[in-house]
Amino acid sequence: VFDAIVVGSGFGGAVAAARLSQAGQSVLVLERGRRWRADYFPRDEPLDAGWLWQPGRGLYDVRWLGRMVAVQAAGWGGGSLVYANVFARPFDEALDQRWPPHLRRGVLDPYYDLAAHMLEVRPVQADPATGELPARTVVIERMLAEMEISDAAFRPNLAVRFGDPEAWTPNVHGVAQRGCRFVGECVIGCRYGAKNSLDHNYLAVAERAGAQVSTDSEVTRLAPHGDLWQVQVATPLRPGAPPRSYTARRVFLAAGAVGTTELLLRARDIHRTLPRLSCRLGEGFSGNGDFLALSAGRDSADLSTGPTITTSTVLDVWERNRAVWFQTQDGAFPSALHDLADQMLPWRRARAAWRRVRGVHPQNRFAVLSMGRDSADGVLTLDDDGEALLRWSNARQARLVRAQERVGPAMARLLGAPVRSAITWALFRRTVTVHPLGGVPVGADEHAGVVDEIGEVHGYPGLFVMDGSTLPASTGVNPSATILAMAERGMETIVRRITGNERWEAPERADARPVPVPEDAAFRFMAERRKRTRGDGVTFGEELSRPGTVLRLRARVEGMAAFLEDPQHPVQLDGTLRHRGTERAVSGTLELFPEGSAVLMQYRLRGDGVSVIGRKTRRGRGPVSLLYATTHLRTEVDGERMILGMGPASIAGMLASIRGSGFTRPRRLRAAARFVQFFAVRALRRGSVDGV
Ligand SMILES: Cc1cc2nc3c(=O)[nH]c(=O)nc-3n(C[C@H](O)[C@H](O)[C@H](O)COP(=O)(O)OP(=O)(O)OC[C@H]3O[C@@H](n4cnc5c(N)ncnc54)[C@H](O)[C@@H]3O)c2cc1C
Repeated sequence: VFDAIVVGSGFGGAVAAARLSQAGQSVLVLERGRRWRADYFPRDEPLDAGWLWQPGRGLYDVRWLGRMVAVQAAGWGGGSLVYANVFARPFDEALDQRWPPHLRRGVLDPYYDLAAHMLEVRPVQADPATGELPARTVVIERMLAEMEISDAAFRPNLAVRFGDPEAWTPNVHGVAQRGCRFVGECVIGCRYGAKNSLDHNYLAVAERAGAQVSTDSEVTRLAPHGDLWQVQVATPLRPGAPPRSYTARRVFLAAGAVGTTELLLRARDIHRTLPRLSCRLGEGFSGNGDFLALSAGRDSADLSTGPTITTSTVLDVWERNRAVWFQTQDGAFPSALHDLADQMLPWRRARAAWRRVRGVHPQNRFAVLSMGRDSADGVLTLDDDGEALLRWSNARQARLVRAQERVGPAMARLLGAPVRSAITWALFRRTVTVHPLGGVPVGADEHAGVVDEIGEVHGYPGLFVMDGSTLPASTGVNPSATILAMAERGMETIVRRITGNERWEAPERADARPVPVPEDAAFRFMAERRKRTRGDGVTFGEELSRPGTVLRLRARVEGMAAFLEDPQHPVQLDGTLRHRGTERAVSGTLELFPEGSAVLMQYRLRGDGVSVIGRKTRRGRGPVSLLYATTHLRTEVDGERMILGMGPASIAGMLASIRGSGFTRPRRLRAAARFVQFFAVRALRRGSVDGV
């Protein structure tokens, strides 16, 4: 009889195994997949050569859940074997009311820091072979600078070991690893020991503290057994072998959102060993708002190098009069996966669609993964074969998906790179999620949820759930850090309860320090920008001059809604002033037809040792006076009064330079049209008034 059995060795299971073992409990970890030696990770065809769990009992478990495709991994380390290493914390403001206080940053941050310490996370570093950042990082960051949203992007913390790719050195847990080779193969298992997957940290700690491990052990049934728990285990790699069973005082289910929910549903509805499980079991399923696309750059740069993900960009945009928040990440696309896709696609239309992308050189291809807040109201049930089936409404995600689909054309415009949605979406309207969450709701009692705040199942003391199935909704960011932090907090309480030691803490907590959270600044920047702009904007250029003086300005309205609402109608300006042979940078604001004032336009600019304050005013009636007024600025430069004017060429240049800014062409055109209309109507309305 074990003190505890842990089912599954992914993020939740690894924390449970490590902390229980460190607390002196006898622990057995049952994992359906195998231990993957680094050089065994599959690279070659065919598909059943270790790629797929079905068939072949391989690395990737791809589940067609009816309305959604869920991708997860099987093996010692669970999802960490194939994940893209991103360690991200959600932005509190982006979480809705379904997130209870104990899962908020204020409570969980110390546990995120502990998990970050265990995984030794840091952002992408320079490639030791070139001394430079990966080309993909550079290309994406250049594009964001052109879009003037660099502050919305960040280089996320990654669970990757950076350093000498040839030397084996011990990590903080004393496990030998090598430095990253920048081959972009994190999502098909790292063959170089550079990925800080759970087998290199939490699981190694668990084994060192005495945990016993049984891989090729799939739990098929669980039942109470007096005061104990009994689990039945099959051996997927040896199908003929007789089933085994184990008993323990406590069981921790950590088979992932789909796996754990499925096990519990079978226990309640098929085996009837847990008939009192809450009727809410299966609810609250989310794909984390995942939306997958593939792009093919025309750049000569090799976009396939580096860790899989190196940048993340937060987008907070207007979609049909509502704000939609999501983020987008670049992802290296390994060429081995590319070759496989040909085989995997059984339909002629799917193969044709794939080949349009496939025609591109593997080095120019990269994945674009968006994630956001979906409705998280999917319901997992069992089909006639006892397999998980999802009830899910695409209509409820329409606004999010529409906004995510717009990333493609925006990137295509800026990078000259076409972006195509995942084939499952393009052809079958099924999204692919690599972040399945939920299915086991948390609540105060069995009417409100299946488990309590620390994961203990209502009505079944000693049975716990400790994985992504208990997250209440999409995190909107890569979720593994939240699963770790939630499990760390839950396990601390559980171990204190089991041992009676109210002060028990994970031993590594003494060494954990607060870790920089680059995502917070990006989230805050984008949230404030949205509040400020509330809509699509406009830019235009203007050149005003007279002999010896030229004022060149670039004008920017960040959002038309806020611009129209503000009685001053402010426009941001920056540019240069050339005066008496010296050119200086200037910036400031332009008020356009400010309400309550007779002035048409009021300029306030400052630069190095210079200020330009000027007005455009109308001094008569009729079209000629209007044209004169809008094209002549009465101002004072360095104490000298002057009138700067626009000739026909400057007027034409100004009109031609008016551009809407927004995610789509129709929205850009609409923003520009609203601006021109505002200008024309206000200009015609204003009467004759005094000048400077
Ligand atoms: C390609 C890809 C990239 C990703 N990138 C990121 C990323 O960059 N950052 C991030 O935060 N997240 C990422 N994820 C998601 C992340 O991997 C998951 O959110 C995470 O693994 C979920 O953790 P978990 O503990 O809930 O379950 P899992 O990690 O899925 O672990 C479940 C384990 O249980 C085992 N199991 C299942 N059923 C049984 C059974 N009946 N008996 C015994 N064992 C069983 C499975 O084999 C598996 O090992 C990615 C996922 C994929 C597929």
